[in-house]
Amino acid sequence: MEIKRANKFVEFMKKFGLYIAVGAVVLIVSLTLGITAALRDDGVPTTTPELQFHLPMQNATIVKDFSSTELQENETLGQWEAHLSIDFASDDSAVMAVLGGTVQSVTTDTLNGTTIVIAHSDGFVSTYSSLADSAQVKEGDQVEAGQKIGDASNSAGREEYLGAHLHFTLEKDGLKVDPNNYLELQNK
Ligand SMILES: [Zn+2]
Repeated sequence: MEIKRANKFVEFMKKFGLYIAVGAVVLIVSLTLGITAALRDDGVPTTTPELQFHLPMQNATIVKDFSSTELQENETLGQWEAHLSIDFASDDSAVMAVLGGTVQSVTTDTLNGTTIVIAHSDGFVSTYSSLADSAQVKEGDQVEAGQKIGDASNSAGREEYLGAHLHFTLEKDGLKVDPNNYLELQNK
């Protein structure tokens, strides 16, 4: 019985072995192609339409620029610190959302003044500090790019010496990034 069965297997393999081998090769090749295609998709940035950033203030001047490596003197706190944000000042105090999104929080504390945090697509989060109490949005609100959300003031205790200004921070995927790389700031 054992021998018979073995012989049947040998016969089976003689008849169909080639097909099985070819099938296996085709399967392996298509799997490999599929996997490399998937990897290639991950490596190349997805072609989402370019995000159009609005400026957070009209006709603004940068009173303190972004700096991740050079420490800048904070005259209010009397210490040197990195400034992972841009401070804008303008005759027009209106502050606008740089992208459309959802308001995550509106808070007020003595160091940062009134602060609005907005979550956007593509992992962007924008934060607007040193705003006047009169925020024009609340948590959960949907905002459009360029929509007014509040007014710049000198409410941020940590940067009082700068006068009325917007302390603007941009994050991408949880990391603070240089807004200069995203906003079109001509009058630097
Ligand atoms: Zn600042």
